[in-house]
Amino acid sequence: MKFSPFMSVPPSATMRMNTLAQEKRARGERVFNLSAGEPMLPTPEPVAAAARQAIAEHKTLYPPAAGIPELRQAASDWMNRAFGCGFSTAETLITCGGKFGVFAALQALLAPGDEVLIPAPYWVSYPAMVHLFGGVPSVVPAAESAGWKITGTDLEKKYSPKSRALILNNGTNPTGVVYRRDELKNILQFAADRDLTVLSDEVYCGLTYEGECVSAASFPEYRDRVVIIQSCSKHFAMTGWRVGVVFGPAGIIKILTMLQSQSTTGTASISQWAAVTAFQLASQITPTIRAAMRQRRDTLIGELNRVFQTNLTAPAAGLYCFVPIKILGRKFSGLTSEEFCERALTDGNVAIVPGSAFGAEGFARLSFAAEEKELIGAVGALGRWAL
Ligand code: PLP
Repeated sequence: MKFSPFMSVPPSATMRMNTLAQEKRARGERVFNLSAGEPMLPTPEPVAAAARQAIAEHKTLYPPAAGIPELRQAASDWMNRAFGCGFSTAETLITCGGKFGVFAALQALLAPGDEVLIPAPYWVSYPAMVHLFGGVPSVVPAAESAGWKITGTDLEKKYSPKSRALILNNGTNPTGVVYRRDELKNILQFAADRDLTVLSDEVYCGLTYEGECVSAASFPEYRDRVVIIQSCSKHFAMTGWRVGVVFGPAGIIKILTMLQSQSTTGTASISQWAAVTAFQLASQITPTIRAAMRQRRDTLIGELNRVFQTNLTAPAAGLYCFVPIKILGRKFSGLTSEEFCERALTDGNVAIVPGSAFGAEGFARLSFAAEEKELIGAVGALGRWAL
C-alpha cells in the first residue's frame, strides 16, 4: 500500500507513556502515572444531568455541522464574558475537542511548504499536525532563563517569507507560562507586521493560578488574524466528552464548518447538550476545578522540593511541572530525557514524559492532574529509584 508522504509522524509521546503505564498496570504492577494531562475529577453533576436529560429527550440525532445553536450561543457568551471578546455565533464553531480545532485550522491554513512558527517547549501535537498537512514547523526556542517566554525578537530569528502562521499556546503546556497583556501585544504586532495568522491555543486559561490569562482575541485591532482554540476538557473536567470550540473570523469558521461536515460531522449531540450547561455554569464550575488543581500543583511542587532538596517554583497555569532532569536524577547524567523517562517507568514505576517530546531536551514533564495520593506516591517512588 502506498501512503501520503506526509504520514511519517510518530504517535504522540504523551499517549505512548500513558499507554505503557496502563499496560504495566494491566500486568498487576503498581505504576504512578503522571503522564496524562487531564484533571482527574468527575465531571460536575449538573453537566452529567444535562447529558442524561438530552438522552431522555431523544436529542440524539445528527447535530448541525457547526454545533447546536444553543451551544454556539453559550460558548460565545462565555468567551465574551470571561475574556472580554466580542464573538458572534457565526464566529463560533463546536469541534471534537480543542485538538480537532487545531487540526482543522491548520488544514484550512496550510499549503505544502508553508512554515509555521512554533515556540518551544510546545504541545507535542503542533509540529506533528503541521507535518501532516505538508507544512514545515519552524521551532522558536524559548529559554528557561527567560521564563520560557518568547518575544517578537525571538520570532524574527525564525521568520521567513514562507512563514504563514504562528501557534501561540497561552497557558502553556508544558511550562505553565502565561503571557502578560503587553507581551501578547508585542507578539500580535509582530504577526500583524508580517501578515501571519495567529492560532492562539487557550485551553488552559481557566487553570491560571498566578496573574491573568489574557485572550489574544481581546485586542480588537488584531481580531481579523486571530483564531482561538478553546475546550471544555480542562475548564470543566470534561476530557472524555470531546467538546472544543474555535473562535475566529466568520470566513475561517465557514471553511472549518465545511471541513467538519466532510469529516467528523461535529461532536456527539449528547456532549453538546452537556456542554451548554457547563458554559452556563462556568463561573461556578471552573473555580472549583482550579482550586483543586492549585492544591495538587502545590502538593507536587512541595513534594519535589522536599524529596529532591531543591527549590522549584510553581507554574503559573496548566497542569504540569516541567522539571530539569538533573534535579530528578543526579546519577543519570548522560541519559537523554527519553532514556531517563523510559527507565523511570521500567525501573522506578513512574510514568512521566520526556522533554524532547516538547522540543526541550534535559527536562521531564510531570502532570499534577492526578489525585494527591498518586502525586505523593509518585515523587516518593521517583526519589527511591533516582536518589
Ligand atoms: N491544546 C493543548 C495545549 C493541550 O495540552 C491539549 C490537550 O492536552 C489540547 C489542546 C486538546 O485538548 P482537547 O482536545 O481535549 O480539547
